[in-house]
Amino acid sequence: MSSSIIHQIDWKQFCQTKITNKTFGFSLVDEIINSDLVHLDWETLGFSFEDLPIRMVKIGRGKIKILLWSQMHGDEPTATAAIFDLINFFTDAIHHQELKNNILTSCTLYFIPVINPDGMEKFTRRNAQQIDINRDFLAQQSPEGKILRTIREKIKPNFAFNLHDQDSLYSIPKSKKTVAISLLAPAFDETLAVNWNREQAIKVIICINEALQKLVPQQVGRFNDEFEPRAFGDNFQKAGAATILIESGSLINDPEKQEIRKLNFYALLSALEVISNQTYQEKDLINYFMIPVQKKELFHVLLKNCSIQNSDKSYKIDIGLNYTDIFDQKTRTLQKHYQVADIGNLSNYNAFETIDATSLILIGEPKFEQIANLELKNTNHQTIIWWKAGIRV
Ligand SMILES: [Zn+2]
Repeated sequence: MSSSIIHQIDWKQFCQTKITNKTFGFSLVDEIINSDLVHLDWETLGFSFEDLPIRMVKIGRGKIKILLWSQMHGDEPTATAAIFDLINFFTDAIHHQELKNNILTSCTLYFIPVINPDGMEKFTRRNAQQIDINRDFLAQQSPEGKILRTIREKIKPNFAFNLHDQDSLYSIPKSKKTVAISLLAPAFDETLAVNWNREQAIKVIICINEALQKLVPQQVGRFNDEFEPRAFGDNFQKAGAATILIESGSLINDPEKQEIRKLNFYALLSALEVISNQTYQEKDLINYFMIPVQKKELFHVLLKNCSIQNSDKSYKIDIGLNYTDIFDQKTRTLQKHYQVADIGNLSNYNAFETIDATSLILIGEPKFEQIANLELKNTNHQTIIWWKAGIRV
């Protein structure tokens, strides 16, 4: 069962150690495929707009066909790393032979690490044509979208895993903890009906949630299930593949998302186990709808109880700050640029970092939705924290 997977399998043993952060480039993917994994059955499905190869590897020989792809959005790399960890797991010749044998005799796995290599190179959501591939299922103007649509038509998978990263600011409604992983069985029409294959996806998600609760209790959310007629997940669900969306979220103290990567590994392995032994069939759909729908009640930084002195008027406010990551292509590093996201009574919000400014002095004027230019000093005039033109110094 899924719980035993988490207790008995050591992710570290299978971790692709060349990947250590979230800004790794396509050249590393190339290197891993062409050196570490060169002995496997790779197929080049086609090329991106800027002529980088999109490759798939097939592992297993079972009747249940499972297609897994990652990084349709170029700046969402977490599951790509987890796919390489899973490939290591399944191609290792020594450990957990029984489990592997069970999965690989009942299932055939088709892994596509990185469907958007051009976006990955520039760490952008969109491809080189500036198209969001996940809104191109119908129009088919991106080579990457065509490749993904064509391979589904060719394989006709029973299950499809659509692997993304989501905004780090999603939280679980009551606890306001960060969402580590969010899950969704995408709708296939506007009524959000549950047909046979969506029901299969929902039941597998229940098993994934049960497994993840052991690692990150109350940090699994459900993604918004509005129907999006242009998206791949929705259309694959419509076409008969039980489709599961896994969104990598965030954890405090995991800036490079390596813990989230590990959760992806366990989430996918738990899913593959229950699909291979069919135990997911026993699950009751209600348990899917019990997974809390995620909300955004988080800031990256929350400054509480700031005193403002404006000519002869004084008042107290909380200030919420969020950053966006700016990517430097030369060094493949990210720099955080902070903005003032909200001002006022923010007592119902949580944050990655909270600072009580009750006895601090605020220098600078917070302006809603403007770049942060703020400094907090203590009464000895020592700087506690400082944002200069949006950059934390
Ligand atoms: Zn995405």
